[in-house]
Amino acid sequence: MKKAFFTLSVLLIMAACQFPGRGPQMITIRGVVFGTYYSIIYYDEEARVLQEEIDSIFQDFNSSMSFYDPQSILSQVNRNDPVLVDEYFKAVFNRSKEISRETDGAFDATVFPLVNAWGFGVDQRASMTEEIVDSLMQFVGFEKIDLVDGRIVKYDERVQLDFNAIAKGYAADVIGHYLESIGVTAYMVEIGGDLIARGSKPDGSKWRIGLEIPAKDHDAQQEWHYFVEVYNQGLATSGDYRRYIKDDGKRYSHTIDPQTGYPVTHNLMSASVFAGDAMSADAYATAFMVMGLDKSIAFVEARDDLEAYFIFSDDSNGYGYYASSGLQLLSRDDL
Ligand code: ADP
Ligand code: MG
Repeated sequence: MKKAFFTLSVLLIMAACQFPGRGPQMITIRGVVFGTYYSIIYYDEEARVLQEEIDSIFQDFNSSMSFYDPQSILSQVNRNDPVLVDEYFKAVFNRSKEISRETDGAFDATVFPLVNAWGFGVDQRASMTEEIVDSLMQFVGFEKIDLVDGRIVKYDERVQLDFNAIAKGYAADVIGHYLESIGVTAYMVEIGGDLIARGSKPDGSKWRIGLEIPAKDHDAQQEWHYFVEVYNQGLATSGDYRRYIKDDGKRYSHTIDPQTGYPVTHNLMSASVFAGDAMSADAYATAFMVMGLDKSIAFVEARDDLEAYFIFSDDSNGYGYYASSGLQLLSRDDL
């Protein structure tokens, strides 16, 4: 992977040299991170974004919040090792707590013991029984954990954190902050479908994103239904049709309802959320997958700072969608 990064950065520098003084050019950087793909698209007169900076931000994220890295701050917190958390961890912890409160615990980063037991963490799926679920539920809940002077304080030492439903969005925001710090004003940073888009293209047009039609399974080809313009907004999608486990012919979603302890089962297939930043969009998207269609619609319509696009399955094995009232959908003909 390192080699590919190197080739890419060299190519970008060459591209910049080819257009001296011809106004901003569109520059794209692509790569792999957090088990998914990312892309950074920006307009600039020179290829100012340094691949090493991007790689180092991603590395810092993994060292802070990856539960696959036993040395990460998160893994140490989960093992109850005494550790001082870093700025990324603090930002994600604090926003997680706020969104957990706002969504009545639908989003809850203390869900890790359940996520892990259901087979979406680091261990093989346990054979789940009501007793196991009930016992794990005793130490799920944000009121059981705090951040005080840079250290995690647990009121039950079995509490464990999982930032997977919010960290990807925050990483996109942080890359965006880096771009702004070097003077880039028009950009889109996308990680595994979650993104932040700021500014307009040099011709004044806004960034446009395709909203995906639900795929039947992991391998289905992507198709786009509608398009939306994103302007100084984060957009994130959670869905259970690309990540699930099949067992005894049953599909288990990777979204866990922290109130029941079980994977969610309702008819909401995907939630795409537009918010002021990608971190918030990411967390609300996961919360909506827990809340289900009706509650999520009510939540979004009561909030001026959020828009959403929901896809749900209907009785006839087809699907329908709901776009919140402030969202303007464009069809192929509008493009
Ligand atoms: P994706 O991985 O498709 O981007 P999400 O952003 O919804 O989807 O993140 C899903 C992950 O979040 C799960 O794999 C799990 O680690 C964690 N998770 C599951 N349920 C919850 C929940 N109710 N609140 C917070 N995190 C959750
Ligand atoms: Mg999420």
